[in-house]
This record gives sequence, structure tokens and C-alpha cells, in this order.
Amino acid sequence: MSRLFTNRIKMITNKNITIQLEKIPHLHWMFIALFLSAIAITLSPMPSEAEANRTTEAAAISDSERITMSLLIPSAPTSIEKDALLHPKQNEQLKHHQTKVKNGDTLTAIFNRIGLDARDVYNVTKLDKKNKLLTKLSPGQTFDITVSANNELQSLHYHIDKTKTLIINKPDNNWQVNLESRNYEPRITYSKGVINSSLFEAANEAGLSESLTMDLAYIFGWDIDFALDIRQGDSFVVLYEELFLEGEKVKDGNILAAEFINQGKSYKAVRYTDSDGKSNYYADDGTSMRKAFLRSPVDFSRISSRFGKRHHPILNKIKSHKGVDYAAARGTPVKASGDGKIIWRARKGGYGKTVIIQHGNRYRTLYGHLNSYSRNARSGSRVKQGQIIGYVGSTGRATGPHLHYEFRVNGSHRNPLTVKLPSAAPIHKKHKEDFVEKSNPLLTQLDIIGNTNIALSDFQ
Ligand SMILES: [Zn+2]
Repeated sequence: MSRLFTNRIKMITNKNITIQLEKIPHLHWMFIALFLSAIAITLSPMPSEAEANRTTEAAAISDSERITMSLLIPSAPTSIEKDALLHPKQNEQLKHHQTKVKNGDTLTAIFNRIGLDARDVYNVTKLDKKNKLLTKLSPGQTFDITVSANNELQSLHYHIDKTKTLIINKPDNNWQVNLESRNYEPRITYSKGVINSSLFEAANEAGLSESLTMDLAYIFGWDIDFALDIRQGDSFVVLYEELFLEGEKVKDGNILAAEFINQGKSYKAVRYTDSDGKSNYYADDGTSMRKAFLRSPVDFSRISSRFGKRHHPILNKIKSHKGVDYAAARGTPVKASGDGKIIWRARKGGYGKTVIIQHGNRYRTLYGHLNSYSRNARSGSRVKQGQIIGYVGSTGRATGPHLHYEFRVNGSHRNPLTVKLPSAAPIHKKHKEDFVEKSNPLLTQLDIIGNTNIALSDFQ
């Protein structure tokens, strides 16, 4: 079992792509030469006669380059590790530049800073045209660039993030582009805790990060309402990965297995990735942790009226309430609670603007008093669980903005808050054997940790 904790996986993927620079036909050069004067202004100092050829090539692409370079993506963490590969042959003539991507930077701006010109931008961009990584610079990323004494580009290392580096060089005078990616080395660890007041407090005490706590709540959120069902003495055990690079922890990885004991009832979940690469959490018997229906079709809402008999505020009489009302701000997105097909999307008497979804043969859900519909959810459209179908409003007989939600099984109204929801698809038959084989060690591990006071250090 301790093998499981020390098991380290290291994989380095190298995608080697060699691209031969294309030559621009001589005929085009005359045409291209028209741009020469414009380029001469943007590129200072003025190119010499001998450099005319380089500059004309640059002119041909500088416009498109400028367009693609303006696509910037929000900041990602900077790579600060030394790139072991960036030690080209010792040569007094070579100059190394290390430069950081600034806000609004483009490859052109970076190259200008270190004295490279538009031709270099063109060549490099062309080498990267498949992935277009150089058009997606983020502030904080770094470049390591080597140039010769007469400022000819020799190599470029673009550190995208801690695991990815784009390398452009010419080891044997042929330009080459490599996307070097390193995989994190996952190490398995665990955390366990007993709840006194809230899951977040207990998880924090157990040293579980906020994001792992959210994951934990999400995994069990289909069975346990973490706002209402939690009791003092509930407990959890979580087996998860920490991701390392060169012996240093970078971040937490996935939860591999977890147990939550709520009011004496144990819920277990294990992560399984099938041969098609799909990952999901399953109970130990292979049933999905997810349900075919969301318990609530609106986030950040409060239940303002429950299922059953109540005094109707507008009709002023006792009436049976056939659904649940969720008070939420006007415009709050309303989500399809399960996969299905929209069979109604129109006004419907007191319900106002209404959407009805048919889920298979047995289930039907209704969403009333909508302010508006989602454009992508038309009558007859297929919708996925969680897909936005409309927005909270107060159309029809409503005193204020809220969603009226109904859940029908074989035509009869059921309480959406208590109806037993069917599970999402279980593990596929063809993966069952593999699932058992992979999940058993994790579940065994979970049991051992849950039942003993074994110290974490015993595993490391
Ligand atoms: Zn209602």
C-alpha cells in the first residue's frame, strides 16, 4: 500500500516538428517592395542595402502579424526555473537576452526591445503557425533569446508556463520548432477531519485547500446538502494528489477517492478515468455520483415557497403548490436540471413565460415566470444538464421575481426537493473490470486511513 504513496510518474512529451522556411518567389518581391518605405519608418535604424531582402520579406507579413499579436490572454504564472537546454555552445559572439512579457506586449515589441526586426518576427511566427502560441502572450511569461554578434536570431525559448516551453532554434542550420512539455509528478496524500460547525472550517483545520474543499462538496453535493444536512460529528477522509515539478509542490491535483459520513451514513466516491479519457466520480459499486437531475435549477437562490398546500398570495385562497419557488434576482440564469428536449417555450397562463423539458419517457420539468428565454434553447432543442434555458423573472401570476420549478414523474407532480433522483449513467460495462481493478486499491487505502490514526508521515 505504501507503494501507492511513493508511486511517482514522470512523462516527458516532446513534439518535434521541423519546418523548412519557405522562400518567397522572386516575382512577389517587386510587389512587396512597395511596402518598403512604410517598414523603414517602423524599423529603425534604416536597413542597409544588404539587408533589403530581409526587410522586404518582413513587410509582407508585418500586417497580419500585428493583427494576431494583439490577441492577449490573461496572466499565467511565470516560469522561473532555469531552462537546462538553454546553454548553446559556448561562444563569445553570442548574446543572451532574457525578457519578461509585459502588459500588452507582442512579439514585435519584444523583438524590438532586443534589436531584432520584423523579418525575425515573421520567421518565428511562421514556424509557430500551427499552434500560434506566440500570438497568445501573457504578462509575466519569459523569453530567453540568443542572437549572434551581428544580431541574427539563433534561438528562442518561450516559457509558456511551468510545464511548457516553446523552443525555436537551428541545431544544424535548419530552423526547428519544439513544444517541450513536462508532466507534473503526482504524489498521493490524504486529509481527514471531523466537522464541528461547517465543512469549510473542518477542512481548513485538516489542511485541505479551499479548492479541494469545493471539489469535495461538489462530489458529494448530489447526495448531501452541505447547507442543511451537515451535523456535528460528520467526518471525511480525502485521498488526493499533489503535483510536483523538480521536487517542489506546484499545486493540488485531483481528489482520487473520498468518504463522507453524514449523520452516520457513509458515502464513498472514487475517481475513474476510462480508456476514452473521460474522468468521473463513481460510488464503490460503479454507479455515478452525479444524478440525472440537478436538485436546484438556480444557483444563489433561496426557497421562498415549498411543495404542498399553502395560502396563495395572489388568489387569496388555500391552494396546492405543485412545485418549489426559488427567489432570485431578476435575470439570474435558470438551468436545465437534466438532459432532455424542450417541448414548450411560450407563455402558459399564470406561469407566464414557461419552458417545459421532457427527459426520456418518464420525467418532465417545468420552469415558470421567466423574464426571458435563452436564445440557444428553442422549442424542440436538445439541452444538456446545467445548460441555461432562461432567466428568472416575474411574468404571469407572480408577486416578485422567482422561479417556479415543477418536477413530474409519469405525469404526476413530485416534490423536487425530496423526490429520489435517478443517478446519471453508471460505469460502462466495457470499463467495469478496469474500474474494479483501479478503484479497489484506492478504496482500501481510504478505509485504512479512515479507521486508523495513522500519521501522514508514515507514508512519506
Ligand atoms: Zn410557484
